[in-house]
Amino acid sequence: MENFDSINTVGLKKEEVLNLAFESEKTRDFSPSINNISIGLSSGTSGNRGIFLTSKKEQAIWVGAILDRVIGFSFRRRKIAFFLRANNNLYEAAKTGLLSFTFFDLKTPIEQHIKILKELKADILVGQPSVLVAIAKNYQSEKIKPTFDKIISVAEVLEDDHKEFLRSIFNCPINQVYQCTEGFLAYTCKHGQLHLNEDWLEIEKKYLDSEKTRFHPVITDYLRSSQPIVRYELNDILHEGTTCSCGARSTVIRKIEGRSDDVFRFFQNEKEVIIYPDFIRRTIILASGKITNYTATLTDERTICMYLEVEETSELPAVFKVVKFEIQRMLSEFGVDDIDIVKIDKKQDPMTKFTRIKNEYSKSI
Ligand SMILES: [Zn+2]
Repeated sequence: MENFDSINTVGLKKEEVLNLAFESEKTRDFSPSINNISIGLSSGTSGNRGIFLTSKKEQAIWVGAILDRVIGFSFRRRKIAFFLRANNNLYEAAKTGLLSFTFFDLKTPIEQHIKILKELKADILVGQPSVLVAIAKNYQSEKIKPTFDKIISVAEVLEDDHKEFLRSIFNCPINQVYQCTEGFLAYTCKHGQLHLNEDWLEIEKKYLDSEKTRFHPVITDYLRSSQPIVRYELNDILHEGTTCSCGARSTVIRKIEGRSDDVFRFFQNEKEVIIYPDFIRRTIILASGKITNYTATLTDERTICMYLEVEETSELPAVFKVVKFEIQRMLSEFGVDDIDIVKIDKKQDPMTKFTRIKNEYSKSI
């Protein structure tokens, strides 16, 4: 983003692009474009926002890829309900005679959308996992019969427990689109595995550990030219899976663990100790079966703030005590002691990205 002006090939200046994009977020009129180049903003988790530019041709390619990989072609008319932080011309472009899109603005509380969503009888529901979960809870409590053939999770990492919950309520496949400013990276195949789109992306793997389980993808996109992406390293931590029986030869992603920004780093006896998000996740889940939702945030050098939800609120203090003990025990196995674990009451803001494990303290890698 620092070198946006010299990197883009369509002569746009970052300042004019940002001004226009912010203006359209404010007015909720999501059709900003300059010289036929559509402008999208991504909410970078590390605070800086990414701009993504798409020409008409790139939009057409994106629509083709999404239809083919995610929505699946059908001659049947289908309705797609789209819950988004902000709309983009890109999504509008996917409208065809056979597909209709209804855009639900996340600025409006979800409860207010439910009635329209119910009446819409959409075939496909698209949204970020935290929003999909909120919709599912509403369907559950209001006893609404779901009409969806497919749920598509976007924008955030889809956690396994959320996926299971969504499947239990909506009773249909829960697919994932792994997409970011840098492009449409991966999709769920019909066998339920997440495949990298290696037919138009070159994806090199920069391994992060000696066992070669975790890697950062380094991507080159052969189809984007207005904003070229060449050997760009993402700081997402991916786990490679085995081959898939669906027939696609592309790399299978077993898991998106999170971002490297969100790895917890501690200093003990002048030595840096790295704790990957998965260790924290697993410890919390295994500590108690009563936990229905949680977040863990490193807020300073020695403090982890925890938000916990349990089925019976009265059990919260006891559950928290166990979780606290288990996290401290796990950390001490890594040689990290004296970490304070503090309980917080925090409501999820639907406009921000939901991140279970977050490092707000140190961003350096
Ligand atoms: Zn597959």
